Amino acid sequence: MMKNWMSLGTAFAAVLPVAALAEIVLVPRPVKLVEKGGFAPEKVAIREVEDASIPAEGYRLSVAADGVTITASGAAGKFYARQTLKQLTSDKKIPCVEIEDAPAYSWRGVHMDDCRHFFGKETVKQVMDLMAQHKLNRFHWHLTEDQGWRIEIPGYPELVRYGAARSASVRHGVKASKGTKEDADKLNGIQYGPFYYTEKDIREIIAYAAERQITIVPEIELPGHVFAALAAYPEFACVPENLASREPRLVWGIEKDVLCLGNDKAIKFMEDVLDYVCKLFPGDVVHIGGDECPQVRWKTCPKCQARIQAEGLKDEHGLQPWITRHFVKFLEARGKRALGWDEYLLGDVPKSAIGMSWREGRSGAGHEHISGAKAAISGHDVVMTPCSYCYLDYRQGLKNDPFFYIGGNVTLERCYSLNPCANVPPEARKHILGAQGNNWSEYTWNEYDLAWKMWPRTCALAEVLWLGDAKPQFSDFKARMKTHRLRLLGQGVNCAPLE
Ligand SMILES: [Zn+2]
Repeated sequence: MMKNWMSLGTAFAAVLPVAALAEIVLVPRPVKLVEKGGFAPEKVAIREVEDASIPAEGYRLSVAADGVTITASGAAGKFYARQTLKQLTSDKKIPCVEIEDAPAYSWRGVHMDDCRHFFGKETVKQVMDLMAQHKLNRFHWHLTEDQGWRIEIPGYPELVRYGAARSASVRHGVKASKGTKEDADKLNGIQYGPFYYTEKDIREIIAYAAERQITIVPEIELPGHVFAALAAYPEFACVPENLASREPRLVWGIEKDVLCLGNDKAIKFMEDVLDYVCKLFPGDVVHIGGDECPQVRWKTCPKCQARIQAEGLKDEHGLQPWITRHFVKFLEARGKRALGWDEYLLGDVPKSAIGMSWREGRSGAGHEHISGAKAAISGHDVVMTPCSYCYLDYRQGLKNDPFFYIGGNVTLERCYSLNPCANVPPEARKHILGAQGNNWSEYTWNEYDLAWKMWPRTCALAEVLWLGDAKPQFSDFKARMKTHRLRLLGQGVNCAPLE
């Protein structure tokens, strides 16, 4: 079933030792668990009871020798009770327990960059299978970038014709080897793509997510990180001549050519894209990017300067908050909330806009930023994804690691030490929705590489988000992970070692 996740070779292969699973090992650990002694058979009758007093996503699970009772207020709680039951079951029996459980945070996410490297439908589904097992409920799907546009949009056929292929790539698709950064950045001269999702693909994935209590958060980047769209429609750039090659950006880094905000047609284009995305995806939140948008083209563009005059903006610094306000309201009119990377909150932006805080304590990428704590204090809801805890394309501190990383160092223990509410005063804590692990793919070259970087670190983030302040010591988590990792390997997941 999960053959794409099969490990690379005997080096990672493991036989699941049944005896090691006899103890109770749950990841994430439930809030309250009492062992009653004895066992129920694996195929015992399961009774479901509705109880409106149990919080959404919470559940009670009672395993007795003669039957299992699941009590919850809704579908999510019942689903999570069954995930716990699966982890409890080993050697065809279930230990008798009483569990009371509910998550600390409502946003327990996984992000996936399908643009730098396109993983495709089967890998997305496998990620969702594993999210469900860890009670993760938000799939942040990075669908548009400088290097690739991955969603077909009715009325704009050029988007995937030009935006979904590159004339060369780096090592995407190769059986990864470590190599040097120079090797890792070397363009291979081989056509990459076109790779994109059709509406049918996306509807299939939306249904798959819904069955697993996962809400998809689609991301359409604006006004920066749009080079692939500009390759399709150069007239939406301030300097169309810069898009003469009609292909997405081939290298990494921050692109200076961004959406021309003086061009009404460019804005109408983004409205059409987001209108379609709002109709297609049932979730309540749409991510509109907003990060790393240089203003150098706006500064010398007559259209952008005319917009600054017409809207009474001070200078080009006013353009991004202006377009953010526009799209926050545009989404609200369609029943959705806007989410964006932290810098999109700079300037006068409605408080209904949710921030995604990716930089804490230092200003990555040389841009101004607003911290998650500061955004929460000012009244914005915030999803925490600080790169020094949550960026899973960073090294994980392993000896003899066969994969290549963008840099950094985020060990398993570092992930586990994340406190989404760090530096947030009690009165603003309600604005911290949760956190997520971000899986950028500049240097993630295939699904084995992705799995290695995601697991076990995503287990740590899942437990942090499920338990909040009630999380135990790292040593407790790590001890359980020794067994839980074998479970993942047993499913064919290329889970990295714990150290
Ligand atoms: Zn312009």
